[in-house]
Amino acid sequence: MIRTRFAPSPNGQLHLGHAYAAIVAHDLARVRGGEFLLRIEDIDGTRSRPELVPGILADLEWLGLAWDGPVVFQSSRLDSYVAAGERLKALGLLYPCQCTRAEVLAMSSRLGPDGPVYPGTCRGRDVDPAGAAWRLDMAKAAALAGPLQWVDELTGPQVGAPGQFCDVVLLRKEAPASYHLAATLDDAADGVSLVTRGQDLFAATHVHRLLQALLGLPVPTWHHHLLICESDGRKLAKRRGSAALADLRRAGEDGRAVAAALRMDQLPTGLWLGPGVGNMA
Ligand code: GLU
Repeated sequence: MIRTRFAPSPNGQLHLGHAYAAIVAHDLARVRGGEFLLRIEDIDGTRSRPELVPGILADLEWLGLAWDGPVVFQSSRLDSYVAAGERLKALGLLYPCQCTRAEVLAMSSRLGPDGPVYPGTCRGRDVDPAGAAWRLDMAKAAALAGPLQWVDELTGPQVGAPGQFCDVVLLRKEAPASYHLAATLDDAADGVSLVTRGQDLFAATHVHRLLQALLGLPVPTWHHHLLICESDGRKLAKRRGSAALADLRRAGEDGRAVAAALRMDQLPTGLWLGPGVGNMA
């Protein structure tokens, strides 16, 4: 039986792009007789707003999307992120890094899928681990894991290429784990067998596949769907003025009708479905 999930970060209210992602995950599970889980990715201490969670649940109910089982909160899983971090440290695959975002930007000479690529400055250096971020030594990790494959059910078999990210942060300064580590561990812990998410996160899957190999986790199938984009081709973002679902809900709009329109790719004027150029969440 397949299991999918919708995994919003409560950093802002949900908008139509989130609704589309939730519908994809929900409908694929329902059509194939599987389960649809809801996971709240609430571990970013600087951006997460717990007070938004009730509104997120209300939005999904308004859209007519029922999830199976209890809502999972990443904040209840911190021990598993620490334990995985310790395992990777014991394998000699992590190193502490005190560089700030601004320093990485200044040092970087290459743009990767996740922004400026970190040139590995702290690798092999004697860096104070107190309050540091921990980065994955990508070359070492990729060598240990060997060749990797994964399957996106829309585009077919993929050859693992995590090196394009260079040394990603797995344990953050301001959060117990990075998105890459927490999402990979949670999808395994939740038994998610079909990971659905936007094409903007396609490249991230190379890192997740590597982490699965290093940590001995099961390998799901992926389904990277199109994104609702604005006229400039960039994915819809709350900060750029899209309506929050909560506003539509409170204005008395019919959520099931909104969901039905999205299922038929009928979008409000000025929005379209595309790959989402120039950004990764
Ligand atoms: N919390 C992530 C987001 O909202 C989830 C991405 C994923 O589905 O893996 O973008």
